[in-house]
Amino acid sequence: MQDLFLTRKLDMILYSTKHESPDVSLEEAVFRGLPPDNGLYMPYTIPTLPASFFEDIQHLSMQEIAFEVSKALLGEDIPAEDLRQIVERAITFEAPLVAVEPHTFVLELFHGPSMAFKDFGARFMASLMSYFLQKSAKEIHILVATSGDTGGAVAQGFYNTPGIKVTILYPTGKVSDIQEKQLTTLGGNITALEVDGTFDDCQRLVKSAFLDNELRSKFNLASANSINISRLIPQSFYYFSAYAQLKKQGHNEPVVFCVPSGNFGNLSAGLIAQKMGLPVEMFIAATNINHIVPDYLATGIYEPKPSQETISNAMDVGNPSNFVRMQLLAGEQYDEIIKHVTGDFSDDTATRTTMKAVYDATGYVMCPHTAVAYRGLKHYTATLPETVNGVFLSTAHYAKFLDVVEETLGTKVEVPTQLSDLLAKEKVAIQMSKDFADFKAYLLQ
Ligand SMILES: *Cc1c(COP(=O)(O)O)cnc(C)c1O
Repeated sequence: MQDLFLTRKLDMILYSTKHESPDVSLEEAVFRGLPPDNGLYMPYTIPTLPASFFEDIQHLSMQEIAFEVSKALLGEDIPAEDLRQIVERAITFEAPLVAVEPHTFVLELFHGPSMAFKDFGARFMASLMSYFLQKSAKEIHILVATSGDTGGAVAQGFYNTPGIKVTILYPTGKVSDIQEKQLTTLGGNITALEVDGTFDDCQRLVKSAFLDNELRSKFNLASANSINISRLIPQSFYYFSAYAQLKKQGHNEPVVFCVPSGNFGNLSAGLIAQKMGLPVEMFIAATNINHIVPDYLATGIYEPKPSQETISNAMDVGNPSNFVRMQLLAGEQYDEIIKHVTGDFSDDTATRTTMKAVYDATGYVMCPHTAVAYRGLKHYTATLPETVNGVFLSTAHYAKFLDVVEETLGTKVEVPTQLSDLLAKEKVAIQMSKDFADFKAYLLQ
């Protein structure tokens, strides 16, 4: 017993932020997603990386950085060689840092298979789940409802993963052509259901399935939702990579990061990197008119509201699901939080003006989410010495929002072959009503 205690005591143990569910291991947190009390899983401790890691970081590749960071966080749960394979299977693309103007850099997070930053989280989650499943020889069935971007990243992330079958529900007519093709053209272990209803109907069907005793007894149902801790961890990797690339390019001055935010997973991951020792002067939480968090940062009052539609629609969130995590990671007390995070927001007019102005001045094309971040960064750095390095995160390739981009810039833009090839593929989806009885019958057949 003594031994068991000693070898286990450094494993990642996670608690629920509502403190009404038992602590869990990493593996349990990954498969459960959400604690039963509807809180969020958080690790008790986040380790600090040694100074030597930061001294030599400019010589490390993205994969090497990802491995070192994972090892510090998960190295007691998973042997190093297994962890290396998990990382190498998930992180198969770069996050280049590109200078747009002097001391203003964009961190391009859209070089993965779905061309949005959600690839980092979805692929790492898939890789980690597949590792745990191999050990237990179990099979699982993942159900996801998507309003667009998450589904594509999850579909790509789990494609051909042994032991995992994925069913994705999306609302008919409510996702873009590119998004629909990303969900419906893979085949294999990925099935797309085109639901005759809204995103809320899709979510309701998935929730009902998780609560249905018959389905639960027949299948190992699992969720892949965005608050899964295994999606947050890999999003910290690219903050370290940005710092490494700045150092490599000879920029040793302080860094501020501006993060275009919706559910605040991305920004929470930045705060994890900072807790692990990454030197960051400030994080800017940039939103569209759904500015619940910038309001909180300005006033100390958190007031969720119904979400409003904008052209940066992946950030149309009125009650961010990672808000509590962001608070805990930034320092719990309001006075402490605002030392780490400041807010900014843009309406659609300002977003479009920014997209056009940056394109005209530099030739750089940004998606609406990225433009919100650029503008937030500029507002903040205008008050600082010129030598501060400003990094804004680009969360999606502009071609995923082609109509808005071409209309705003008043010109045709280049579409990468990755996306044009996808548009040429044939859609395969199963039509589904919004009645749970039909969905259940389909799953049981
Ligand atoms: C999901 C998403 C966001 C918001 O990220 P959060 O982690 O939810 O804050 C921003 N931009 C794009 C393109 C996204 O898909």
